[in-house]
Amino acid sequence: MTSETGAPAPTRVELLGLPAARLAAALAPVVDRPFRVRQVYDALYRRGETEFDAMTDLSRELRRVLAERCSVTLPAVADRRQAADGTTKLLLRLADGATIEAVDIPESRRRTLCISSQAGCGLACAFCVTGFWGAGRNLTAGEIAGQVILLRRLLDLPPTLNLVFMGMGEPLLNLEAVRDALEVLGETISHRRITISTAGVVPGIEALGRWPRRPNLAVSLHAPDDERRERIMPINGSYPLADLFAALRRYPLEPRRRITFEYLLIEGFNDAPRDADALARRLAGLPAKVNLIPLNPDPVLPDWMRRPVEARVDAFRARVERHGLTATVRRQRGHDVAAACGQLRAFGRDPRAPRSRMRGVGR
Ligand code: SF4
Repeated sequence: MTSETGAPAPTRVELLGLPAARLAAALAPVVDRPFRVRQVYDALYRRGETEFDAMTDLSRELRRVLAERCSVTLPAVADRRQAADGTTKLLLRLADGATIEAVDIPESRRRTLCISSQAGCGLACAFCVTGFWGAGRNLTAGEIAGQVILLRRLLDLPPTLNLVFMGMGEPLLNLEAVRDALEVLGETISHRRITISTAGVVPGIEALGRWPRRPNLAVSLHAPDDERRERIMPINGSYPLADLFAALRRYPLEPRRRITFEYLLIEGFNDAPRDADALARRLAGLPAKVNLIPLNPDPVLPDWMRRPVEARVDAFRARVERHGLTATVRRQRGHDVAAACGQLRAFGRDPRAPRSRMRGVGR
């Protein structure tokens, strides 16, 4: 692109998602005093202001220069659907046209946002509609934080929010951006209210364990043995259960924290009483809680994947609890707008379209 004079048009520096030190470096050519950088930082991340004009504590001249040289880009809303239970799913379009989804889940005593860390996912979990659509790309820290800033603006959200990385993508395969996003989101959301959910990326778990302020950790387990887990989660081939649990046992949990294990219940596959016993044996000695998720049916899933009846779900939970573990059942939220767990994908995609998958992960 060129300007009217024929010279290349200056590229604007994107500010959203930059943590304090990198924001200071990016602003160095236009902002000379540290407290001015802090004002921009607070405007972006404490007040969620994304228009320079709204940053009225800055001088008019500085706002003009910032608008000329910098940008703050939020995702655009491409579609918005609300389920009967109040769950809102947003399809968001990023600057390069990629689409992601974010979900607002109101509950009686808390409000949870479920956000994406990648546009698509290459891990190809057999039960997951996002995985069905194949790999996309990593989101930037700004695209991750932007989901929260946008949802706060669009929906009438309370100041205290819970945040879960359970939308599209595997957050531990996009660690740097997730870390930067958490740093800036940490201005308004305590790390204790943030949960990173992983399919079991062992190097990512080890890296997360070295962060000074660690969010909660959830692990998608879904089967108590390697054979069945690998059948529905190809990542198990790269990081089998022995490696995964060795990493989890080394993970430096803060006092009174537990690792959440998500366990999808699929009729006749992993929902028998002996599976509950095997699951409990697998978790023995770990500070753990179990979140049982009865499968959400979807036309793109294989026919053999069916949701167990409620009595079987309750029996499984009771059996797990007999081993002294805490187990909860995640009730279906937002199913009528395909916002339930494992159902995130770009709205309106043809479920008969061919799969594009990247099997496993590199190691
Ligand atoms: S469940 Fe998570 S890791 Fe697995 S394919 Fe879906 S988005 Fe990816």
